[in-house]
Amino acid sequence: MSTNDDLPVAVLGAGIAGLVAALELQRNGYPVRVFEAAPVIAGLGGTHHDDDGFTYDMGAHFITNRLAAAIGVSGECRLVHRYGETVHLDGRYVDYPNGLLKQPRFVASALKARVSTPEGDPTTAAGRFRRDYGTALADTVALPLVEAWSGAPADELAASVADKIPTSIAHTMLLNALARATNRAISVGYCWAQPMTASVFHVYPEHGVATLCERIAEQLPGVIQVSSPVQAVIVHDGQVQAVRVHDEEIPVRAVVSTAPINVLPRLVEGSDRLDRYRRFRYRPMVLVNLKLRGRNLLSDVVVWLPTGFPFFRLTEATQSMPWLAPEDKTMVLCDIGAEVGDEHWTMDDDALGEYCVDHLEGIIPGVRERYLGCRVVRTPIAYPVYLAEYEEDRLALKESTGIDGLLSVGRHGEFSHNLMEDVYWTTIDRVHRWIADQKAGELLAIEAEERAAAVGDDEANPVVASGTRDMPRA
Ligand SMILES: Cc1cc2nc3c(=O)[nH]c(=O)nc-3n(C[C@H](O)[C@H](O)[C@H](O)COP(=O)(O)OP(=O)(O)OC[C@H]3O[C@@H](n4cnc5c(N)ncnc54)[C@H](O)[C@@H]3O)c2cc1C
Repeated sequence: MSTNDDLPVAVLGAGIAGLVAALELQRNGYPVRVFEAAPVIAGLGGTHHDDDGFTYDMGAHFITNRLAAAIGVSGECRLVHRYGETVHLDGRYVDYPNGLLKQPRFVASALKARVSTPEGDPTTAAGRFRRDYGTALADTVALPLVEAWSGAPADELAASVADKIPTSIAHTMLLNALARATNRAISVGYCWAQPMTASVFHVYPEHGVATLCERIAEQLPGVIQVSSPVQAVIVHDGQVQAVRVHDEEIPVRAVVSTAPINVLPRLVEGSDRLDRYRRFRYRPMVLVNLKLRGRNLLSDVVVWLPTGFPFFRLTEATQSMPWLAPEDKTMVLCDIGAEVGDEHWTMDDDALGEYCVDHLEGIIPGVRERYLGCRVVRTPIAYPVYLAEYEEDRLALKESTGIDGLLSVGRHGEFSHNLMEDVYWTTIDRVHRWIADQKAGELLAIEAEERAAAVGDDEANPVVASGTRDMPRA
């Protein structure tokens, strides 16, 4: 066995990925230490509560009963009865997918796309959406939305950006019909690592999505250090040796990083294997939560706005989780794709609230009279931008970082548009693969030791060396 077997595994980040990785390692007998840069845990899976009785996440979060059960928080969750999405098109609301399917121009162009024979698989998002949905629906709805959330032209984005969008309209319609029949918000498109079925539906923790991380963290007593950014991951001969935290070098057996993949190469000392990821970029987001008088102000829980507005999505989470605001009030979240330092990023919070209200009059009549103030959250790393030119390097990450003992997991570590349940399952899978590799390595080391001992014995004792076959006969 190698000499570093008793050293801890360092986990970089206490979002859901880091916490799940730490717990799984601990359950398998590995000592772990979790270092979190921020003063609080949960990362993007955090929740805020304000003094006026409003609760909001880092962007509205919807989770499934399957994730809640896996983490052991089902008892703290309430059932979500209602979830639906509409698209705001030409001044009207159109249901997804039924309403879109009733539009003759979309049907005609989708049928045309089906019968025309494409040459090979499209490599860009523009090609993929036009092939899957037809030109009319792609150009009017899908591509403007994908460009708004990515901040890049659809013909520069990889076709795989569409992998996380349900393309089987028949399956989506079936699940939506079952949702109506069962009065449950059956989950569509919230997890890809496990099957989408009628028994997977939305629930939500009474006290916000942060409950998920808090409950995992409780099972890691004395393991998590907040306000402790990992400053460096030290590598020798292609193998992780230590991390530096608070200027102290801590020897480690391995590192599980959940940091953005474009940051990790800047932390690694002693290897340039990850340098190709320095150029990867994420789409920042300005999330404006408008506090409003009234309830059910949007036509559905989520409203997509392909064009004509500074925000591409509106979410009224209280339609799904009524307990997130006082009874006669609601919160509408406006998602604005941004760049760090641009006009939306730098606008002060009150001005952003006013700006959103100004643009919402056409969607929520009388919104100004209802407006009570806003809460703004900014994140520089909301969405990985799937540029086509990253694709080969992005896919390579699924296998390994190329550095022994360095795993990169989680939404930003995998550079994958994963929601929480996918982060959960893919992180567990990655950790299990690492554990299996360790065990295989240990077995090989034991076999090698036994072989070496046998050779040593053979050399020391020529009688044994020749084996029982050749034992001198009595
Ligand atoms: C707008 C928006 C809406 C979303 N909606 C949903 C939804 O409805 N449902 C859903 O399931 N998911 C949703 N998600 C996705 C979900 O939030 C993420 O998949 C999940 O929270 C990612 O967890 P993570 O642990 O991978 O990353 P993070 O939560 O980002 O955790 C990474 C942690 O690493 C820390 N860190 C970084 N660098 C260092 C360092 N050098 N040293 C130490 N610590 C470091 C960070 O501070 C952070 O706490 C949404 C995301 C966004 C942005």
